[in-house]
Amino acid sequence: MSTSFKAVLITKDDNGAQQVHLREMTEADLMDGDVTIAVAASSLNYKDGLAISGKAPVVRRFPMIPGIDLAGTVMRSAHPAWREGDRVILNGFGVGETHYGGLAERARVNGDWLVPLPDGFTEAQAMALGTAGYTAMLCVMALERHGISPDRGPVVISGAAGGVGSVAVGLLAELGYEVTASTGRLETHDYLRELGASDIIHREELSGDGKPLAKERWAGGIDVAGGRTLANMLSATRYGGAVAACGLAESMGLPANVAPFILRGVSLLGVDSVMAPVSLRLEAWRRLENLTDRSKLASVSTTIPLGMAIESAPQIVAGNVRGRLVVETG
Ligand code: NDP
Repeated sequence: MSTSFKAVLITKDDNGAQQVHLREMTEADLMDGDVTIAVAASSLNYKDGLAISGKAPVVRRFPMIPGIDLAGTVMRSAHPAWREGDRVILNGFGVGETHYGGLAERARVNGDWLVPLPDGFTEAQAMALGTAGYTAMLCVMALERHGISPDRGPVVISGAAGGVGSVAVGLLAELGYEVTASTGRLETHDYLRELGASDIIHREELSGDGKPLAKERWAGGIDVAGGRTLANMLSATRYGGAVAACGLAESMGLPANVAPFILRGVSLLGVDSVMAPVSLRLEAWRRLENLTDRSKLASVSTTIPLGMAIESAPQIVAGNVRGRLVVETG
């Protein structure tokens, strides 16, 4: 196999201005690691959009190959858990931020960061889920651990037409929940109903000033937005319910008050995918393998070539991408 490969590379010039190119690199350019992978697929997540467009300081070392996830085949390994030919997935652990990431035909990483690709998925399917889908599963698992079962009442999902949101709608519908999808995009209503949403609201319903305690509507929620959206979801959560928060598509801020917590016993469940322990990752990917409707997965994902990841970055940050973008790297 050739040691040269294509990669998206983010650099900074002497004036601190960021540039992004599709580059030819060699394996000697890769960072240290005990497993070298032929990357078959990666994906474009919101965080990759921020990294490539330079809209937020996601990248903490330059130059950087972005891409917070990848799926591929082990080419060489000095790690006891992995052998040549093993099919693997990597989500987070700083790849695409501090360590060269998945938007490349090759990766060299720490074997401790890898989990096996479930037999029931191709690399492209795993990346159609990608970090967004795995995070959606972590959010569902957080709600389940809190006892938010389908019989407790409906659940609401913000950013429903985005990556985390689309997968979360499909998973919760598959598990028998009544799902309210919140979206800012009218044109996605049919898509969201096909994924299993039984009710759709405009995201403006959740982004206003709101009351400290609103009418109790949902037993639980998954929030990708932060800001007023998260505050309003909390204030409309039923007694004893919970909201799993994983994102900041609206804002990093949280203009909330304590009323839902102290008067209704509502819980705010933080969800992080980047440093999640391997045991949780294995459970999330096992559940995704069993729960994912493959035809729904095909309907939420669009495949793009590696070079197109650069021009798609501003689109995902602007909230214009429906569902998931799989990046073909193999
Ligand atoms: P996407 O861009 O695919 O989806 C985000 C969606 O949020 C958009 O499609 C849009 O949905 C909605 N949205 C955009 N702007 C606003 C706004 N101002 N107010 C309310 N909703 C808005 O991103 P991902 O699904 O990949 O990621 C979603 C969020 O979750 C990001 O903030 C990301 O960083 C975070 N994340 C966090 C992880 C973690 O480990 N904690 C892991 C993965 C993601 P619609 O058009 O339907 O309204």
